[in-house]
Amino acid sequence: MVSNEQKTLAVKRASILDGASVANDIKKEVAASVARLWAKEGIKPCLAAVRVGDDPASEVYVRNKIKACEEVGIYSEHHALPASTSQTELLALIASLNARPDVHGVLIQMPLPKGIDESAILEAVDPAKDVDGFHPQNVGKLAMGHPNFVPCTPAGIMELLKRHHIEIAGADACVIGRSQIVGRPMAQLLIQNDATVTVCHSRTRDLAAVARRADILVVAIGRPAMVGADYIKPGATVIDVGMNRVTDESVARELFGEDAERRIRIIAKHGYTLVGDVHPAEADLVAGRRTPVPGGVGLLTVAMLLANTVKAARQN
Ligand code: NDP
Repeated sequence: MVSNEQKTLAVKRASILDGASVANDIKKEVAASVARLWAKEGIKPCLAAVRVGDDPASEVYVRNKIKACEEVGIYSEHHALPASTSQTELLALIASLNARPDVHGVLIQMPLPKGIDESAILEAVDPAKDVDGFHPQNVGKLAMGHPNFVPCTPAGIMELLKRHHIEIAGADACVIGRSQIVGRPMAQLLIQNDATVTVCHSRTRDLAAVARRADILVVAIGRPAMVGADYIKPGATVIDVGMNRVTDESVARELFGEDAERRIRIIAKHGYTLVGDVHPAEADLVAGRRTPVPGGVGLLTVAMLLANTVKAARQN
């Protein structure tokens, strides 16, 4: 709910932290590194993406990653395996990719079909090729403050904050969500950059009050538009990691404020539009800056995957 006080404090709408321009800058830098590696050392970075089963969302994610590789000159391989693939078969493929000197990055698209132990699979990837940063060795290095491969979504968020000159040192930061791929590594990176960090989750008491103390609020929970104005400190920087589908016109009207008509046209054309875990119209009234969905964190995630692949090629 938006209080009158918050409405009054909102001198203007939150400014938008544009993920697209930062992602494009990172891609340009990656393309330049790819060209240098080829010119100086004759190395062409290569990413192998492995997908098991026919989850349509996973298919789109992998397709986008492959397309992004092509844009910056990284070779890519797409290993699409049937849902009937056994854990032993998947482990054998990973072992062969680990052994190949021409493959620098190995990505296993999650989720995996039931019956395959995700931890065993992630641990099987060579830590030197672990461009997603999910291997325990890379998780441990991050926790110890000596990161090598960092999960792409939080790494992209750090780039976004830094390139927009948002002060992190000394800031009160709150991360809502404690997953291995977003919340936890995000908190580690903020700590390393000298923020004072609170991590919240589904058992946090009075979540809104805790979140409202934050200068930087990162939300990664998977609950459409749950974080409203009462979670946001006036002027705060709000990073919305969530990606949820909205299919209903009346919901779109309630969520998107001035952008509602455009979003309704998107629903009419594509069947859905995306909303994050933050209520955009409410956040606009209170936050100082916020990331849009789409056009925010998602683009950075892919850009950082490319950056990690080039880093793996350079290190190998
Ligand atoms: P997970 O489901 O793995 O984790 C969700 C976290 O949110 C958990 O820690 C959970 O708490 C917490 N949570 C859930 N409900 C609540 C609640 N009501 N109040 C407080 N905390 C809550 O999700 P992910 O981290 O993988 O993803 C989060 C969102 O980010 C999703 O929408 C996903 O689609 C999106 N995403 C977007 C990416 C991008 O590139 N833009 C990349 C990755 C994810 P608990 O631990 O107690 O269960």
